Amino acid sequence: MKIHEYQGKELLRKFGVPVPRGIAAFTVQEAVEAAQKLGGPVWVVKAQIHAGGRGKGGGVKLARSIDEVRALAGQILGMQLVTHQTGPVGQKVRRLLIEDGADIKKEYYVSLVTDRGSQRVALMASSEGGMNIEEVAHDTPEKILKVFVDPAAGLTESQARELANGIGVPTGSTAQCVEVLQKLYRCYMETDASLVEINPLILEGDGNIKALDAKFNFDSNALFRQTDIVAYRDLDEEDPAEVEASKFDLAYISLDGSIGCLVNGAGLAMATMDTIKLYGAEPANFLDVGGGATPEKVTEAFKIMLKNPQVKAILVNIFGGIMKCDTIATGVITACRATNLSVPLVVRMKGTNEDLGKKMLADSGLPIISADTMAEAAQKAVAAVQ
Ligand code: GDP
Ligand code: MN
Repeated sequence: MKIHEYQGKELLRKFGVPVPRGIAAFTVQEAVEAAQKLGGPVWVVKAQIHAGGRGKGGGVKLARSIDEVRALAGQILGMQLVTHQTGPVGQKVRRLLIEDGADIKKEYYVSLVTDRGSQRVALMASSEGGMNIEEVAHDTPEKILKVFVDPAAGLTESQARELANGIGVPTGSTAQCVEVLQKLYRCYMETDASLVEINPLILEGDGNIKALDAKFNFDSNALFRQTDIVAYRDLDEEDPAEVEASKFDLAYISLDGSIGCLVNGAGLAMATMDTIKLYGAEPANFLDVGGGATPEKVTEAFKIMLKNPQVKAILVNIFGGIMKCDTIATGVITACRATNLSVPLVVRMKGTNEDLGKKMLADSGLPIISADTMAEAAQKAVAAVQ
């Protein structure tokens, strides 16, 4: 799960990491009031969307008067902000963060991620903070320093010092930087984050260290014990089909192709998408209905797939293990009738009660195309969309 920058900064504040004073705004009027409250003389108007690269896309602007704040807020609110992380359609800006302008002397980069290889939290830092960290990672990877944190010891002072010195923090600010890094680590651990990225972490003219940006991702498996974090969820930033699917406990991810897929098991779902591609078409979604799919769940899954106007055929690929093929057949038949299915449907079933399931589909009177192997099913679905 992701959150907005202003929410991330609330968390940072809670853990004692210094951030600029700032107020979130949902309207131009609120933005103006926020600016008046902050007092200026320089403000930053920042688009709040769940994607980075806002600065380059025109979503982060400096204002030197209240009138300028008003004009910029009007310009940014409601805009379709396109960044290298949003895709070509961009993301509509519905929230702003109005902040005190910072006196930036130097921009550093700091991030924490869970490193599966070492089974530790990796803390990375670079002297080359700001808006081009992807290029730094590509062209001069030696400029990104890393330490791996022992979970029992936590981030030690000497590790934090090694990074602060390595990225060139001046001596007078080292102690503060060390403290900030240790607080960031605590924040990462205690919120069950899977990514915290501060880009830039800045050195101010007066020598203070501050987090000027905040990007958080959280481990969704831990959300049950992070109610404060769940309260930050912003459904406007999520794919509506994926939100709808999550209500029915369906693992669904929207894709760009034309063949809707309904599969049980994540591995089989991936293999099904590969097979569709092998025969020359593209899947419209990933969908794992799980082991306990009821006819209601299958119907909801059909409805979600069919809301996508790009779907020109549906491929159902089921391995009947715990879930029996006749249960899925009931689900498919119910779903076809409930949705008045108007696109070709290919069904391939294997496993428990396979014969019964196939007979039910054949006897239903519905124009279902049946297939025996995955290859055959994929070929038939691809033929149906071409
Ligand atoms: P991102 O582009 O989505 O990562 O958004 P950031 O919050 O990182 O902002 C982009 C850039 O705007 C930063 O790297 C800074 O250079 C600049 N910026 C952000 N806040 C301030 C500020 O208070 N003062 C100044 N002068 N520049 C800022
Ligand atoms: Mn940034």
